[in-house]
Amino acid sequence: MNKEEYISCTDENLLHVYNRFPVIFHHGEGVYLYDTEDRKYLDFASGIGVMALGYHDREYTQALKEQVDQLLHTSNLYYHQPLHDAGEAVCEASGMDKVFFTNSGAEAIEGALKTAKKYAYLKHGRKNYEIIAMNHSFHGRTVGSLSVTGNEHYREAFYPLMDGARFAEFNDYESVASQVNENTCAIIMETIQGEGGIYPADESFLKKIRSLCDEKGILLILDEIQCGVGRSGSMFAFQKYGIRPDILTMAKALGGGVPVGAFAVTDEVAANSLKPGDHGTTYGGNPLVTRAVKTSLDLMKKRKITDHVNAMTPYFENILEDLVNRYDFAKEHRGMGFMQGIVLTIPVGEVVKKGLEEGIILLSAGNDVLRMLPPLVMEKEGFDEMHEKLTRIFDSFA
Ligand SMILES: *Cc1c(COP(=O)(O)O)cnc(C)c1O
Repeated sequence: MNKEEYISCTDENLLHVYNRFPVIFHHGEGVYLYDTEDRKYLDFASGIGVMALGYHDREYTQALKEQVDQLLHTSNLYYHQPLHDAGEAVCEASGMDKVFFTNSGAEAIEGALKTAKKYAYLKHGRKNYEIIAMNHSFHGRTVGSLSVTGNEHYREAFYPLMDGARFAEFNDYESVASQVNENTCAIIMETIQGEGGIYPADESFLKKIRSLCDEKGILLILDEIQCGVGRSGSMFAFQKYGIRPDILTMAKALGGGVPVGAFAVTDEVAANSLKPGDHGTTYGGNPLVTRAVKTSLDLMKKRKITDHVNAMTPYFENILEDLVNRYDFAKEHRGMGFMQGIVLTIPVGEVVKKGLEEGIILLSAGNDVLRMLPPLVMEKEGFDEMHEKLTRIFDSFA
């Protein structure tokens, strides 16, 4: 089968919800992906923030191979070693107290929402709680997570969604505070908005929200599904702000490439929310994915990945600054650590497409942001190569 036949034959069987680029990937090595024609692509997307350790890391794949031979699945009716190890590793990395493993980011959000509702129900004995979410947020595609996603484009065909979600302006304290009432049970936000266009929370905003929540007995849910697990330069971005959420969601990079998410809570929330029978999942936290979580987090610690991200971030940002200075259509750059975006007035989709022709994988975010989420192991040479490639791509638009 040639490439075109392969693509049309694939599309014949798959529900058309993605407009895929006509690239057939075959394997990956380090910070590069290779297609079936053995063309090489520098990866500045990490499979949307997943492949933090890059591709084909020998220690990681070896651990997974051992686990495949040993035990794949048992259900959550029993204990197993990787579950113990991953639970300990996630609590240590996040500073949270109790964790629940899910199969995706959206499911982590679902669990977080249920936890917040149950907490309010037990604490205040009422129902019909409201949750304040942010405009331009993204929390997932399931009905609950969509209900707190502040983007009408994703929501419009699916009403009625979950009741009780209200929207406020991110980084605008008054906008949030003015939505709080006696029914508010939680405020949910990304510490760094990802899909919405790479907007980090302002420090004063996040700290004031934390105080507001403490004062009113409202739970703060931070969604770090994209910005967590080392990407910001801290294991979790909130750790840079000197605060702690009541509920934290994570996924994407958590398992280094296998489908796994989690939500984690404080002891106070754990003691006053979900009880046996309130929540569950068949696959969640199975031996394969928890072995992957434990291995990824151990390798990140051993290799001091957050130190590397912090050390390389100024170099990364200088390149973005140079591009913004040299091209009129590049308006500004913003981000934190290895989660960066450039605001463009040329069509971002075209830039991403040209990137593939040039051998670099890029992402978009919002309508006008070129988003970069390189593997956290990206070195100076990779950033230089990105600089060269983006210069060539931008020149073609100038
Ligand atoms: C990707 C993402 C999600 C949804 O995760 P899925 O694994 O795709 O369900 C939720 N929140 C944020 C911030 C994300 O980036």
